[in-house]
Amino acid sequence: MSIHQGPAISVNDVIFSYGKRLVLNHLSIEIPTGQIFGLLEANGSGKTTLLKLIVGLLKPNSGSVQVFGERPSTKFAERIGYMPQLSAVYQELSVQENVDFFASMYGSFDKRARQQAVERTIATVGLTERRRDSVLSLSGGMRQRVSLAIALVHSPSLLMLDEPTVGLDPELRASFWQHFRELADQGSTLVLSSHTMDDAAHCDRLVFLQEGHIVADGSPSGLKAATGNPNASLEEVFLYFVRESKSIGSS
Ligand code: ADP
Repeated sequence: MSIHQGPAISVNDVIFSYGKRLVLNHLSIEIPTGQIFGLLEANGSGKTTLLKLIVGLLKPNSGSVQVFGERPSTKFAERIGYMPQLSAVYQELSVQENVDFFASMYGSFDKRARQQAVERTIATVGLTERRRDSVLSLSGGMRQRVSLAIALVHSPSLLMLDEPTVGLDPELRASFWQHFRELADQGSTLVLSSHTMDDAAHCDRLVFLQEGHIVADGSPSGLKAATGNPNASLEEVFLYFVRESKSIGSS
């Protein structure tokens, strides 16, 4: 596949509904490469749907989605890592078996390189000592780390993370974020959904979604400044833009 120079992701005027339930209404977003991009909103208004459209699990009713300049398809599997909200790990298999299974599915490794990638990724998520244990025997936070390892093992250039830090203790959360930043510094693009303002503060760019519309788009500091209060918490910033969008909608 040729090297793509443009944005990692373009979402152009997308409308998406589940039956009669309209979830995304004329949504457009462009995400450059090498950015940590956060999607924030109240629960149930379309973050997961948007991530699924980007990885090609769903198709828009109208409008288009492009990943690396092309329509999402399975041929991107090697370049995309997806960490879903509900873990895709096999509970009866060990940590190592799970990570190796996904490496064999997505990676174009020879045997030795695959083994190294699996070992390195398990070390990255801090599970080397537990690598032979079944996932069933792990704590919730450890299972989440297995999910992350699966999304990371083939060194994807685009990493999609659906609420990756839910349920993590503060130390683990910090170590996830350290790793995400390293990946972005190496040129990967990270798109994550979250509803915690702690995650939001780590992103290069934030988009606040409200009922399928963008109500704010910018860096954490830029959005704070736009409220007229550079010291506002991101929680306050979020509420400010949601209120603004409602008052514009009702005027
Ligand atoms: P979020 O990730 O922001 O919590 P989702 O994208 O999962 O939101 O869901 C957006 C809306 O679409 C919600 O109202 C949800 O109930 C609805 N929805 C999600 N998945 C389905 C589905 N498979 N069938 C019907 N409605 C769905």
